[in-house]
Parts: sequence; structure tokens; C-alpha cells
Amino acid sequence: MACDKCGKEAVVLQKYSGMHLCAHHEIEDVERKIKKRMRQDRMVVPGDHVAVAMSGGKDSAVTLSILFETFSMRPDIKFTAITIDEGIDGYRNFSIPRVKELCDKLGVPHIVVSFQEEVGCTLDEMLTHERKEASCTYCGVFRRTLLNTTARNIGANKLATGHNLDDDAQTVLLNVMNGDTERLARLRPSRPQEGLIPRIKPLMDVPEREVALYAFLKGLPFHMGECPYARESLRGEIKDMLNDFESRHPGTKYSIMRGFDNMVPCLKEKYPQVPLTKCEICGEPGIKGVCQGCKLKERIKIIGKPPLKD
Ligand code: SF4
Ligand SMILES: [Zn+2]
Ligand SMILES: [Zn+2]
Repeated sequence: MACDKCGKEAVVLQKYSGMHLCAHHEIEDVERKIKKRMRQDRMVVPGDHVAVAMSGGKDSAVTLSILFETFSMRPDIKFTAITIDEGIDGYRNFSIPRVKELCDKLGVPHIVVSFQEEVGCTLDEMLTHERKEASCTYCGVFRRTLLNTTARNIGANKLATGHNLDDDAQTVLLNVMNGDTERLARLRPSRPQEGLIPRIKPLMDVPEREVALYAFLKGLPFHMGECPYARESLRGEIKDMLNDFESRHPGTKYSIMRGFDNMVPCLKEKYPQVPLTKCEICGEPGIKGVCQGCKLKERIKIIGKPPLKD
């Protein structure tokens, strides 16, 4: 098939737009979507220090690469890459060297923070115990906290993550299926919260498949493996269902996000943003009382070994 823009050989068919695109025009299209979103939401402004959450996968590699390409000539804008090493054997140990490779190439400082050091044990160790929560719950709660505290400690005022269109559409569906409309409202915060570094998601309009293709076409170093725990989660099932639906009804993922954005004003009216309070144990921002991270730490302590740091 030929590219609909220039006639060269196409590398992708965007079923949702009906366009066949060559490598050059696919790269151009992905960058256009990302830059448009960054401009529209004023994601990066003069004086920003942006911490970039880097897992070593395609999404974070593309996020850092595009942010760097767009703003590296601006001396007033600074980037620092942060990797959380959850301690997932056979996975994270392969992805961290890819982050290092990209950061070295771009000259971006890179910080690695581990669960082992900061929580007291690795995710693999946590999951060897009898547990009530899914692996991604432990992982997500501790990783979110560590990303936030690390970004805050280095003086960053924004935290960029590699969430793409698929991730966001899955999150919306996940909350709908859980009947958690309050959490749905929190996906679009109305204003920054004290102690929480505001997040930006430059890839939110790009389908996952095209993020992967972009990373490949640009020759970015990234790790292709999947987390061994990913299939345990409901999200994994939703991902398969959504991909199946998208292939039969192209544009579904964009429609879900469009529909969600139309509902946001009603959700915000029903669930106005409540100010966060400090966790009674660790002092980190949370909804009220003890934060989820401290509750999980306590649960791991109760069910036993290994001893956790306080
Ligand atoms: S799939 Fe779950 S356990 Fe694996 S890295 Fe992601 S959140 Fe963590
Ligand atoms: Zn072309
Ligand atoms: Zn706490």
C-alpha cells in the first residue's frame, strides 16, 4: 500500500482515520498529535523542571525523546529522568539499562529509586506472601508515592508520564466497570494539590500501537518485555477487550475519551475536588487519615517477613 500523503511505501494503516502513512508521515503525525496536546494544555511552560517517569518501555522513551527534542534548546526548561525499580526479576533489570542508554545519549540526568531501599523489600518479595490485593495495587501505590516524593525532592514542578490513549481509555473503562465514578472524576483534577507534583501526559492522544511504531522508527532504545504480573490484572482483560473492539470498530478508544471528557463537568459537579490532608504516619498527601501506602506497608508487616523500613 502507498502512503496517502506522498505515495511512498506505507508502514501503517490508521484504521480510525482511514490513512495509510509512510515512516516519515507517521512520525510527523505522531509528533503533531503530541505537540498539539502539549500546546493546548500548556503542559510545559518557561521555568519548568520536568521529572520524567521512565520505566524503560516504549512509552517513556518516546515521552522523554519528544520532550527533549521540543525543549532542549530552551535553557530555562530542565529535565530529570526518574526510574522506580520495583524489583521485578527478569523484567526491570532488563529495562533500566535502556533508560540509561537513552539518558546518556540525550545528556539527561537519571535517578533510580528502588522499592528495596525505600519500602524495605522488592515487589517480588511482597508478592510471595499471602495477600489480599492484586500485584498492580502494591506496585502502583508505592510507585506513585515514590515518583511524587522523588520529583518533589529534586525540585521538579511537573511529572511527565508515558500514558498513551490506550492506557487512558482502559482506566476510564476500568473505573466504569468498578462503578467508581468518584475516582473517574479525579482523573481530571481541577487544580494542583499541595504536596502533589502535577502530572502531564504528552502521549494521551496517541494509540499504543503507534507509540511503539514511532519508537521503533526513531531507533529509540526501549525494552519490549511485558511485566510478568501484567496478566493478573483486570486491566489486562480490559486491554484485550478494547483492542478487539477497536479492530472491529476503529476509533472506539478516541470515542471513549471524547465521551469521558464530555462527562467531566457533570462528574466535577457531583464530586468537587476535596483538599488533601497529610497522612498521619508518613506525612504524604492523601485523602484522609492514613495513606494507602502506609496501610499496605502495615498489611505486609502483619503477614510477615521481610522486615520493612519505617
Ligand atoms: S503490570 Fe502491575 S506489577 Fe507490573 S509494573 Fe505494571 S503496575 Fe507494576
Ligand atoms: Zn508519506
Ligand atoms: Zn502514609
